Amino acid sequence: MMLYYLEPYLKEVETRVIGSEENKILLERTVLYPGGGGQPPDRGWILCDGEKISAQHLGNGWHYIDGKCAEKNVRVVLDWEFRYKMMKMHTAEHAFFRFLQNKGAVLGKANFGEYGVIVFKGNITRNDVLDAEKRVIDMIGQGREVRSFWIDRSQMKEMENLRIRVDRIKDERIRVVEIVGHDVTACKGIHVKNMSEIEDFAVVKFRDGKNKEVKFVVGDRARESHYLFSLHIRRMAWKYGIELDKMESHLENLITEIEKLKYSLKEASQSIPFETFECSELKMKYLLMHGGFRKIIVKRLLEEVNNGVDVAIYGDLQSNSFSCACNDTLVKSMVIQEMKNHSGKGGGRDNFVSGTVNDVKSFVNSLQKVICSSDILLHGDENGN
Ligand SMILES: [Zn+2]
Repeated sequence: MMLYYLEPYLKEVETRVIGSEENKILLERTVLYPGGGGQPPDRGWILCDGEKISAQHLGNGWHYIDGKCAEKNVRVVLDWEFRYKMMKMHTAEHAFFRFLQNKGAVLGKANFGEYGVIVFKGNITRNDVLDAEKRVIDMIGQGREVRSFWIDRSQMKEMENLRIRVDRIKDERIRVVEIVGHDVTACKGIHVKNMSEIEDFAVVKFRDGKNKEVKFVVGDRARESHYLFSLHIRRMAWKYGIELDKMESHLENLITEIEKLKYSLKEASQSIPFETFECSELKMKYLLMHGGFRKIIVKRLLEEVNNGVDVAIYGDLQSNSFSCACNDTLVKSMVIQEMKNHSGKGGGRDNFVSGTVNDVKSFVNSLQKVICSSDILLHGDENGN
């Protein structure tokens, strides 16, 4: 007899072994739920001849056991802590999802473990999720009663509002779980008798998209989650002197501002003219700015070098990093040497060097001097020597 439905709070039971094969035994009675309806199988043990053997109910009374048992009478013991958590999660899921369903959500799947996870479709917003969470917490406070009973398949139609996946249920007898005054669902799982047992409920994650996902916790972990969220948000609000209800709009404004600045910076990276430095035969172009868009500027550096400039360099004043294009390897080796003289690190392929230095402004200054003094070395004197 499957006692988990009749007595969901029974933690252990004496029973007879009425069959066995390999690592399986057939028990007359059990308190171990074999799993179903998103609820994982119970964890538990068989006490057999003084030995405690891990066991799992596979269904129809057959139990897998992690060992051997030759006794005719055994005791089945439930891992109550795990099961009770599953009962709380499962009940919370029913209560919570009914609120979302009332707003048009369609359940994909639900499963329970470390977290409760619900995947669903429908036009559900962050606010709907938060509102449903609040209502579940209210119901926990009210101590809503939870009942379960069996109906015949034919009675299904009479039950208005019954949540049922008709395509998935093949049995003639259907188990119904009711949260009084709120929800009726066809479900094979094990639930608490009163919602007050859930203690607390917290959605810890909401993923938007075509397939939406909610992750939640119950009990102490829900309390902990509410506390942590509140802790971090308050710390931020107090640190920056922002009212709690203004935080969201404050952040939104910041993000808009950043987007605007990014746009301006991009424009600037594209259009600010390079400085030109010439030393008789050698031509250098450079740009020093704060946080320019490197990719855009590097493209411009390469264009300059292709158009006959000997060395084109960008120095980022914010990070003291630089990017440099050179028209020959001798110039490149000078840049690398000067980089080292400025305690820099970096390198690059072909005639391109990038890296960081102590002070990018003085690095570019020195580079001008070095290039000037090497001018004759690179290009020869007027006689071509
Ligand atoms: Zn269920």
